[in-house]
Amino acid sequence: MLERTNKMTDTIKTDVVIIGAGPVGIFAVFELGLLDIRAHLIDILDKVGGQCAELYPEKPIYDIPGIPYITGNGLTEALMEQVKPFHPTFHLGEMVTTVEKIGDPLFHVGTDTGKTFECKTVVIAAGGGSFQPKRPPIAGIEPYEDKSVFYAVRKMDAFRDKRLLIVGGGDSALDWTLNLQPIAKRLTLVHRRDDFRGAPDSVNKMRALVAAGGMDLKIGQVTELEGADGQLTAASIKDKEGALSRVEVDAMLPFFGLTMKLGPVADWGVKLESDLVPVDTAAFESNIPGLFAIGDINTYPGKLKLILSGFHEAALMAQRAHHYVYPDKRLVFQYTTSSTSLQKKLGVA
Ligand SMILES: Cc1cc2nc3c(=O)[nH]c(=O)nc-3n(C[C@H](O)[C@H](O)[C@H](O)COP(=O)(O)OP(=O)(O)OC[C@H]3O[C@@H](n4cnc5c(N)ncnc54)[C@H](O)[C@@H]3O)c2cc1C
Repeated sequence: MLERTNKMTDTIKTDVVIIGAGPVGIFAVFELGLLDIRAHLIDILDKVGGQCAELYPEKPIYDIPGIPYITGNGLTEALMEQVKPFHPTFHLGEMVTTVEKIGDPLFHVGTDTGKTFECKTVVIAAGGGSFQPKRPPIAGIEPYEDKSVFYAVRKMDAFRDKRLLIVGGGDSALDWTLNLQPIAKRLTLVHRRDDFRGAPDSVNKMRALVAAGGMDLKIGQVTELEGADGQLTAASIKDKEGALSRVEVDAMLPFFGLTMKLGPVADWGVKLESDLVPVDTAAFESNIPGLFAIGDINTYPGKLKLILSGFHEAALMAQRAHHYVYPDKRLVFQYTTSSTSLQKKLGVA
């Protein structure tokens, strides 16, 4: 189940909140699910797959055990198929901002869209940290951010009948140009050169819209913003020859790529070593009981930042998480090949 950013006031109660829906966070759903532990996953990206989906979707991976060759996207799709029987809920396009221990074991988790969760354990699977948009080098942009300058489109309808300025030359800039052009009052795309990194088909569609008069394309750089109280009214664009032009706008959407930053993990009271969470290697638990860290975000002697290491860590984490979620239940180790009860959970028996 995929949930986009619907602001919710009711606290969501669940067994585990997994912070990060990269390959390791997704696989954790499988290992937890086998032990009847329900999970909600939260990721700042608007898609699942973490680095595999964002940094190398088409690149081959050769070291997933038993899979001689698979792309970043292929692995993400296969993992999503594998966790289907456990019906995890994904909250995408949201950043976890707060994690507080409120009981023993009980955690309160909050996101930047106002959602709150209460859970018995928390799994930090935040990889290299949160993907965050790169800010364009335009002086005085900060007061407009989240008011009339946006680095992501959360609700397309918010841009209906607006004069939009999209900045960038990659897939995000082109995709949003094509998606928002039909509902915008007028759309202008600005890119520093007349050469686009995005998919050729998107470039052709964008150029066809420009030729038909449906939108404007300007080659140059945004140098100045005009407006008041966070509301943009116009932007100045300088072309290669240095000539300035002015475009009246209601909102600007810069797509300058993403960068990975540790982000709010540093504020949760969990011990860090060089921006990584030190864990034990029996259960990959942090210094806070019930708060686990798996995948690229953790560190221990001999740690290798490989997907297969994260998968192993997820399996052991789930065994310990079971003690917190079901303190009175004995955990019996079982194989999926021979256990009818596990096969029933997987929907194959
Ligand atoms: C170019 C490249 C090639 C690679 N090739 C291989 C390979 O061949 N084999 C291999 O094993 N590994 C490879 N890796 C490494 C591999 O991709 C990582 O080990 C793996 O992605 C780690 O998975 P993860 O789930 O721990 O973290 P990630 O994939 O980094 O996912 C973490 C997720 O957490 C989210 N997040 C972080 N903080 C927050 C927050 N506060 N709130 C909400 N969400 C948050 C992030 O947005 C991100 O989506 C490669 C990496 C790169 C960059």
